[in-house]
Amino acid sequence: MVVQAPVRVRLAPSPTGTLHIGTARTAVFNWLFARRHGGSFLLRIEDTDRERSRQEYTDNILEGLAWLGLDWDGDPVIQSARIEQHRAAIARLLASGHAYRCYATEAELTAMREQQAAANRAPRYDNRHRHLTHEQEQAFIAEGREAVVRFRIDDDAVIRWDDLVRGEMRWAGADLGGDMVIARRAPADRIGDPLYNLVVVVDDAAMAITHVIRGEDHIANTAKQLLLYEALGVPAPVFAHTPLILNKEGRKLSKRDGVTSISDFRAMGYDAAALANYMTLLGWSPPEGMGERFSLAEAAAVFDFERVNRAGARFDWDKLNWLNAQVLHDLAPAVLREKLLPLWQQKGWGASGPAADPAWQADLCTLLGPSLTLLADGVEQAEPFFERPLADSAAVGQLAAEGAGAALTAVAAALPDGPLAPDAARALLDGAATAAGVKKGVVMKSLRAALLGSLQGPDLLATWDLLHRIGEDAPRLAAAVQSSSRAE
Ligand code: GLU
Repeated sequence: MVVQAPVRVRLAPSPTGTLHIGTARTAVFNWLFARRHGGSFLLRIEDTDRERSRQEYTDNILEGLAWLGLDWDGDPVIQSARIEQHRAAIARLLASGHAYRCYATEAELTAMREQQAAANRAPRYDNRHRHLTHEQEQAFIAEGREAVVRFRIDDDAVIRWDDLVRGEMRWAGADLGGDMVIARRAPADRIGDPLYNLVVVVDDAAMAITHVIRGEDHIANTAKQLLLYEALGVPAPVFAHTPLILNKEGRKLSKRDGVTSISDFRAMGYDAAALANYMTLLGWSPPEGMGERFSLAEAAAVFDFERVNRAGARFDWDKLNWLNAQVLHDLAPAVLREKLLPLWQQKGWGASGPAADPAWQADLCTLLGPSLTLLADGVEQAEPFFERPLADSAAVGQLAAEGAGAALTAVAAALPDGPLAPDAARALLDGAATAAGVKKGVVMKSLRAALLGSLQGPDLLATWDLLHRIGEDAPRLAAAVQSSSRAE
């Protein structure tokens, strides 16, 4: 594919909700394309729906993009600040005859649609006010009617474009629902609030956007927008319509599918690199030999639309979890610690005392890292290192077993004051087994129950070493010895 430089693409989110996975995936494709071609990735906040737009959503969207590593160029364009340019474009279309005022009332339009439904026809505006005479307009105004502005869409218009994903696309003007409203109802001497299709075209042209990359749910809008480019006499960008993200059942992923906001994925403990990697795979196939794990920068080096599928992309939690686990397993302990520390601190852990030692925390990360799928697992699994655990029933059972108390008493008596080297620890366990007259396995299981309150957990000697270094093994052993003597 030959791409004309310089590439300028944009993401145009509406701040009427948090950053959705679909919008974020669109952002990923825009970003990859821009970076691949050394172009610009711009943002435009489409906040013209004044009732539903909120600053907190804009903040959430910008934060989410930044967290994912999708840096944008320049300040975001705020669409509502450009309303005069939008109105000026509508005025031009009115003056050139591409647009006109339509005075049909809501009641008349409803009656029209009911008739169409009764006759089994698709609902469309029947262009009834396209050719009003001056007298007819004056009569409507005298009645007190307000008008919308409509853009003429000729039934015999043929709209075609070469879509970077879908190839040649064709639409007939007759299939676009009749003349399109481009400004909301207002008194006839004014232009009401400009609407989506018009505004997008005016802004994309003003921002000199070269490629519009967005979800395939916008295909019909593209057909309408191409007519607007032509009428306004501005060159149209190239379009790429990306496949939708589907749920397990093959339907468009929606709020009902649970987690769909980037901030929710983040709160669940997904890593930004893994999520960005996963989103890149939602609709794009990496070239042979690249594998499925890569950074955004690696993908940007090879990204093109020839490898974007037309078919919808099914959301696959297992693959996302697999990628997330891979990313976490590869982190250096000190880096994993930096990611976990804020989560630990929310729990009040590791802020003071020996467990606040960065080296100790990094060693805890070395121990836990390989078993994490989500960052949040690093909170759950770290808990018994920061807080004394309550023994679960299996651990209580183990502590009540024959010889457990004697074995743990022997371990406790032999604890060194200084460091606990692995060889010394093993010898200590052997000695305790002999002293208590039990198998070494009983000593190990009892020790695990005493230290972690559970029979499950990470490597025992490494666990013990970490707890020993913060002086937590002795008190836990003492409590376990007491509990096993109560059981006798
Ligand atoms: N604000 C529109 C949306 O969120 C933008 C669509 C477009 O990219 O033109 O869907």
